[in-house]
Amino acid sequence: MAENLQYGAERTTVSDLGREMLAQGLTKGTGGNVSQLCADGETVAINPSGVPYEDVTPERVSLVTLDGEQVAGDLDASSETPMHTMILRRRDDIGGVVHTHSPYASTFASLGEPIPASHYLIAFAGDQVPVAGYEKPGSEELGELAAETMGTDYDACLLQNHGTLAVGETAEEAFEVSMMVEYCARIHYQAISVGDPVILPDEEVDRLRSVFESYGQH
Ligand code: 13P
Ligand code: ZN
Repeated sequence: MAENLQYGAERTTVSDLGREMLAQGLTKGTGGNVSQLCADGETVAINPSGVPYEDVTPERVSLVTLDGEQVAGDLDASSETPMHTMILRRRDDIGGVVHTHSPYASTFASLGEPIPASHYLIAFAGDQVPVAGYEKPGSEELGELAAETMGTDYDACLLQNHGTLAVGETAEEAFEVSMMVEYCARIHYQAISVGDPVILPDEEVDRLRSVFESYGQH
């Protein structure tokens, strides 16, 4: 059915990743949201607001413009649409955004503490995962602060007292970054619980970031 649906591939990605976010324990209930820039480079597929992920079929995924105006979908688009579209407008190197409430990363977000480079996989996000201060969920201000905090050096940040935000060339890549942020948060939490973790120097993490670009099968 998705073949006849406008931007069916992108809407299928958003609907699949929502379910995966829940399956991987990156959120509870209807928390978090996923967006994917469509093939026209101007339309964004994003999950509808407050709908259980198991009920989000590709047809129910909203389409909005890069300015956040809804153009398709019977249900209201995610309340975090302003944050997603702001990041997509600001960075032309990215095409997907994932927001989670993942538990270990959210623990550091509630402490207002960045996650340092105590595990090399932090390089998926940058030389650390910085924290954007608290702003009201769903506000333009939250999007503004998150975009500023990530700048172009980071592919993820924590949202204070709230959760995480990750970006990638695609929503799948942003999802992978979200998984790595949660993994690094968990390792850091465990490491500080029993001792004093060694933090990798920035130069090493920068080197790893370029190695990651060519990692895997070619
Ligand atoms: P939506 O259900 O509107 O996408 O919002 C969930 C959320 O995480 C708000 O920050
Ligand atoms: Zn949220």
